[in-house]
Amino acid sequence: MTNLDRPTGSSMSRAGLRFWSAALAFAVFMVDVLTPLEGAVAVLYVIAILLAARTNRRNDIIVAATGCVVLTITAYLLSHDLHEIASPALRALVSLAAIGITTLLVLQNHAATTHLAAQARLLNLSHDMIFVRDRSGVITFWNKTAEQTYGWSPDEALGQLADKLLRTSYSDRREAIEASLLDTGRWEGRVEQRTKAGAALTVDARWALQHDHLGKPVGVLETHTDVTDRVAAHSALVQSEQRYRRMFDASRIGVVEEDWSGLRTALDSLQTGGADLRDYLARNPDFVRHARRLARITDVNPALQKMAGASGSAAFIENADKLLGENDRSFLDALVAFANGEPFHEGETQLVSFDGRKVPVLFTITFPPEPDGDQNVLVFVVDITERKQAQDALLAAQAELAHAARVATLGELSASIAHEVNQPLAAIVTSGEAGLRWLRRDVPDLKEVATTIGHVVAQGRRASEIVTRIRTFLKKAAPQQDLLQIGEVIEEATALVARELAKDDVALIVEPQHGLPPVRGDRIQLQQVLVNLLINASQAMSGRPGSRVITLRAGTVDSETLAITVQDSGPGIPPDDMARLFDPFFTTKDGGMGMGLAICRTTVEAHGGRLSVVSTPGSGATFHLTLPYSQEHAPP
Ligand code: ADP
Repeated sequence: MTNLDRPTGSSMSRAGLRFWSAALAFAVFMVDVLTPLEGAVAVLYVIAILLAARTNRRNDIIVAATGCVVLTITAYLLSHDLHEIASPALRALVSLAAIGITTLLVLQNHAATTHLAAQARLLNLSHDMIFVRDRSGVITFWNKTAEQTYGWSPDEALGQLADKLLRTSYSDRREAIEASLLDTGRWEGRVEQRTKAGAALTVDARWALQHDHLGKPVGVLETHTDVTDRVAAHSALVQSEQRYRRMFDASRIGVVEEDWSGLRTALDSLQTGGADLRDYLARNPDFVRHARRLARITDVNPALQKMAGASGSAAFIENADKLLGENDRSFLDALVAFANGEPFHEGETQLVSFDGRKVPVLFTITFPPEPDGDQNVLVFVVDITERKQAQDALLAAQAELAHAARVATLGELSASIAHEVNQPLAAIVTSGEAGLRWLRRDVPDLKEVATTIGHVVAQGRRASEIVTRIRTFLKKAAPQQDLLQIGEVIEEATALVARELAKDDVALIVEPQHGLPPVRGDRIQLQQVLVNLLINASQAMSGRPGSRVITLRAGTVDSETLAITVQDSGPGIPPDDMARLFDPFFTTKDGGMGMGLAICRTTVEAHGGRLSVVSTPGSGATFHLTLPYSQEHAPP
């Protein structure tokens, strides 16, 4: 029910009003009939009509008016006969006229009220709180939403001072607002209101000044839109943005904001001819280079500016191309991840700073989901220079250790090496003596002398090869990344231990698969791994009855890996030792160092491979090492 719908002016119900209206009409009728007032009292029927009008029902008014007319005429007819048309009749006519005029006015008023009520109902449909206050600030209209939101019913709100009821707080001075309202007829602003329950609401208020027909301000229509949630969401957003900004500015991790939308377009229009994207990109470095320029940098934080050696504003870092070096391969991988719709991509590369320094970095790129994810690609970059230095130092220490282990291994092999070198030396001596004998003949046989000298040279070379092999094995050099034929590495390693194995009566069977792809790595380190495994196998079998056989196999496992296995027919490894076998200093040998397998595993892992062992106690051990092929030589 709107304020205009309700019976006005009193709390009396409709039924009550109807009753009192009828009762009054009847009372007037009785007085009219029973007293000598002769129709004058009939004017009081007007009061009955006014009472009926207060029900705000058109039908009530018509019924009351008709009733009063009928009663007036009836009273007249009961009190007089038709021949007397003098003054009583005149009075009755005046009464009827009064009833008629009143009814007309009341009906007009009702029509206007109904019209207003319809408008008020419309206002009630609004999602906004709407109320009207007069010039002194007293509320004269209060809509449904105002009731629901602020908590006061129209009965409670009407007649109250709006500012006081709602405890309104303005962002500006109240007088200034009022002045602006009078000046322009409108005011808009954000205010704080309190509900009946005491909750604070932020509302966008719009005020419109109402004028009477003379143009005099009579009231103000206020429309309030509740923006509490919106303001809270906005301030949460602002806070979150500020937090992000603080993290962005203060973080020690480099952050780059990039726009990859141009890159998406370029990738979408790429014609790979059905080829795998990675293959296509590997064959089209120009596209990758172009794509680097399309990765537009929108912002970089101070940490990244520092990494890039940019002083102050980084506005001149326009795209990723400026930051990545010539040999960068990480961008290609990032492109593939981006094209495949992966949410993030991690990698390692080198940034090229503005002063030409190469900065090793780890990075994570996050690709936020659509719709505008491509414009908000975030790259987090960590400078790993120090870590790299520490890693280099560690590698150097490992290399030192590996070298020491090689020296120790050769120490173990010294007897057989001496024997091995001794053989060609003995042969040289024998050939030399034979040559001398041919020379000392009465007729020196120069042809035989030449043959024996030829033997001397050949044996000398053999001795020199042995020494070279040992010296190479002992060489102290930084780890290399060469392209190695694994068959050659196996040959060199077996040559180093051949004599030792022969001494212990160990048969070595080598079964390399034909046409193995090359691996990338350090020749000496991989030799050392094989030498270690072979010597361990030989030592495990030494002094044991039965056949002593080592089988060394090499072959490809899949399209990326090749495997070498070293299998012996020794005692195997007790289950208790298995878990500790690769631990540094784990040994079961008298005088053993326990470093061999630890170094082997580190070396293999540094080559991107794995070293493991399987063993059934009593039937030997099989060491299994895998190595990745060199990618550029992977079989198609
Ligand atoms: P070390 O040879 O100085 O003991 P390693 O690390 O090379 O150091 O080997 C550690 C231990 O692993 C050896 O002491 C031995 O007990 C065990 N082991 C290594 N290879 C074999 C094998 N083929 N058969 C049985 N045990 C082995």
